Amino acid sequence: MQGWKAGVKANISVKGKAATCASRVLQGYAAPYSATVAQLLERQGANLVANLDMDEFGMGSYGIHSSSGHTVNPLDRRRVAGGSSSGCAASVADGSVRVAIGTDTGGSVRLPASYCGVIGFKPTYGRFSRWGVISYASSLDTVGILSRSVDDCEKVYGVLNVRDPKDPTSLKLPNSSSVLSKSTESPLNGLSIGVPTHISPLLSQTVLERYSDALYHLESLGATIKPISLNHMEHALGSYYTIACAEASSNLARYDGIRYGSQTSSTTAAENKTANAIEDVRFLFGDVVQRRIMLGSFVLGSSAYSSYFAQSQKIRRLVQQSYNAVFKDSHPITPSASQQLVDFILTPASATTAPLKSTVEAGEIEDECNDDVLTVPISLAGLPAIVLPWNNVNSSAAAAQAADAACKSDEDMPVGMQLVAQFGHDAKLFSVAKVME
Ligand code: GLN
Repeated sequence: MQGWKAGVKANISVKGKAATCASRVLQGYAAPYSATVAQLLERQGANLVANLDMDEFGMGSYGIHSSSGHTVNPLDRRRVAGGSSSGCAASVADGSVRVAIGTDTGGSVRLPASYCGVIGFKPTYGRFSRWGVISYASSLDTVGILSRSVDDCEKVYGVLNVRDPKDPTSLKLPNSSSVLSKSTESPLNGLSIGVPTHISPLLSQTVLERYSDALYHLESLGATIKPISLNHMEHALGSYYTIACAEASSNLARYDGIRYGSQTSSTTAAENKTANAIEDVRFLFGDVVQRRIMLGSFVLGSSAYSSYFAQSQKIRRLVQQSYNAVFKDSHPITPSASQQLVDFILTPASATTAPLKSTVEAGEIEDECNDDVLTVPISLAGLPAIVLPWNNVNSSAAAAQAADAACKSDEDMPVGMQLVAQFGHDAKLFSVAKVME
């Protein structure tokens, strides 16, 4: 990786460089040390470009909740880049960096990868070190990779796939090998790909067409496509947001201007008409972060704990069990009974192509959180996934022209296909991703 330019999201520490989490609370903060993942890349000769833009503290799906404005989608500047690793996805897509490392708590690498037409990889929870990564929701946070080729992604994976004693959640996990058959014509012979039956009503027409096309392609390479039913998925989004907000309210309590975070300035004190120093610092958080801290504190309170937080943890367990029940590979930590149906699951990473910023601003999109519906269940279960851009196959001359155009229709925007494997089986994803590329 000598000389590779590697982007680093603003919540990953690079010594001496800003790591603001795109928040006014951390304005002017420079990291006193480098995260393990940053050190590993630097040791391989990568040139790190730090503090790439994001939704504040990782909270958002569109890359519009940053203290410095919003990230534009380089494929069509009227559209959002997706979040929260918006700067990473946009910088990889427009070629300013060769690869980038972001974080994925509930989809923050996969969704922007899908919107910007790049590769996005989320490892098994515990696979990559999070030492030096600023926390959002600790039971879900992972470091992920964005790149333009599967090869580059796999190289970065090889560098970051190191157990780190400094991170207590870092696991010793098996390293699976290639799963391809010897046949060059049908490399996916013998592999089964699961298609969850509940998702098609969630998808836009464009995404649905692209999804069928990807499945036909996999079939033509020898894979068997199997419909699978995954239970409890309708509750996954609610469970995720309850757990993520609860953990965020605890993690972000440290930004009080005393232990961490900007000191109170007289301007903010005047703006907020309060003399309370800690309160002034807390008002530096953006609206989304403030709302989530309040929600998180509420669900952890004694009156709401059992009806919200405890229920969400139960749903999380059920979601994990649903995945365990379909994968042929067994879970290396919590093995349970399985029908042994599939090697992988394939779904789109997003229900639509990148939305226009104007539709988001006009409130035409009911709730940004709904766009995480295809990514959060995988995060709840801690599974590895890779997102591959899937473009319009009817690439007529018109579509080729559209590829260069500054404004694109939905049909001319990419959609990311999300290939998911059992917990700990990250490396299997690369062999299949390469033949799909
Ligand atoms: N959009 C999700 C959220 O806001 C996921 C974000 C992430 O993965 N950091 O929580």
